[in-house]
Amino acid sequence: MIIPRHLPVTVAVSVTGVSAVLLVSCASSKTSANISATNQRSTSRTFDFVPKITRDFIPPGNLNRRNERKMKPRYITIHSTSNQSPTANAEAHCRLLHRAGLGILSWHFTVDENSIYQTLPTDERGQHADYEGPGNQYSIGIEMCENEGNSRVKTLDRTARLAAWLMKKHDIPISRVVPHQHWRRVRQDGKDFGHKNCPHFLMDNGEPGRKWNAFLKQIQSYREPLP
Ligand SMILES: [Zn+2]
Repeated sequence: MIIPRHLPVTVAVSVTGVSAVLLVSCASSKTSANISATNQRSTSRTFDFVPKITRDFIPPGNLNRRNERKMKPRYITIHSTSNQSPTANAEAHCRLLHRAGLGILSWHFTVDENSIYQTLPTDERGQHADYEGPGNQYSIGIEMCENEGNSRVKTLDRTARLAAWLMKKHDIPISRVVPHQHWRRVRQDGKDFGHKNCPHFLMDNGEPGRKWNAFLKQIQSYREPLP
């Protein structure tokens, strides 16, 4: 069934029918799988998208996935890569995490204008926000690419759709979709690095303001049609 992107449609569908095709292409092996919501109710649903996600998890045992610590996600944390290199797209960041190119750092999704790469399961903690703080303990981390030539408008739109879908999937309210800036970064030794200006292009003077609120509205516009 083809569902026009910008025309929400109401269809009678089992929730199990709302599935995302997961393609693996970052690494050499290619597989595909369907994931389904656990809810089995069959009812009238309104939706207009299911994000296409390329799923390629960091190898277990890697420096940045040494401990597969379980997590029940309560928040979604939005970042941007601050990497303007023309080649620094979502796939490149997936590869970067596969070789632990940023040490112990890890996150769940990377988004560019064309794609979404998933590098950690959403029930596993990443290391992207605030050391051992709640941002890492309880949030799904999404990085938006900033590579030269990549459309920011399209990247924001794809990120908004992904966030809306994750909100639905994990029952996360919009009040718990936060910028990285939200989390105070206090290292285990007590050193306080304060709040990071991230994602910098959605902050006003280093804090959430008009631009962040507009982005939340964009996410809500995709969340509301979902049941
Ligand atoms: Zn960040």
